[in-house]
Amino acid sequence: MTPNSDPTVQPVPASVVHQVDAADTTLQNPQQAVIALGSNVGNRLERLQSAVDALADTPGLAVKAVSPVYETEPWGVEPGSQSSYFNAVVLVRTTLPPGSLLERGHAIEEALERVRDERWGPRTIDVDIVAYQGVVSDDPRLTLPHPRVHERAFVLVPWHDVDPGAEVPGRGAVAELLAGLGNEGVAPRTDLELSLPE
Ligand code: AMP
Repeated sequence: MTPNSDPTVQPVPASVVHQVDAADTTLQNPQQAVIALGSNVGNRLERLQSAVDALADTPGLAVKAVSPVYETEPWGVEPGSQSSYFNAVVLVRTTLPPGSLLERGHAIEEALERVRDERWGPRTIDVDIVAYQGVVSDDPRLTLPHPRVHERAFVLVPWHDVDPGAEVPGRGAVAELLAGLGNEGVAPRTDLELSLPE
């Protein structure tokens, strides 16, 4: 008897969705996503701008808004042991599904030479998917919204700048979360600006 003719072996149902090359996977309708950028190594502004440019160069993705730049103190490290961060938030519309958007974020991190050896280590560039439309997911590979966004003023402040009515799915309005957190340690760098690619 061949394995396929064994009645105890269940055939794969026709509805199973097989994994496909993520680069080939697109959605019909563009979805809004919020991406947080951070850098605390080297020319931080240049790295943020390179990440914005790389996002804008992504097929199936349009950058809709780029926030002002903020300078913030690093988290989870001895004060003074690492340089401060530059942070910004980018609003995009994209036909890439969430997993492909994350892959693109990782590719941008790699391209900008992020070293991934220390959990709270210095970051050439960090690209996080803060939110993807209203999606809520506890998948550890891509948790949505980002698991710590509701407690990170350095993300909520620039997000509020570009979308004052924004909501963190399942957590509430960005404005209300910020009212509770305050914006201590998140200093606007009004002398610096990221450009929105044409
Ligand atoms: P980090 O070192 O903070 O950039 O986190 C890296 C890991 O977090 C990656 O391997 C991702 O798969 C995972 N991850 C989970 N949720 C997210 C998210 N919303 N955005 C970015 N990375 C995420």
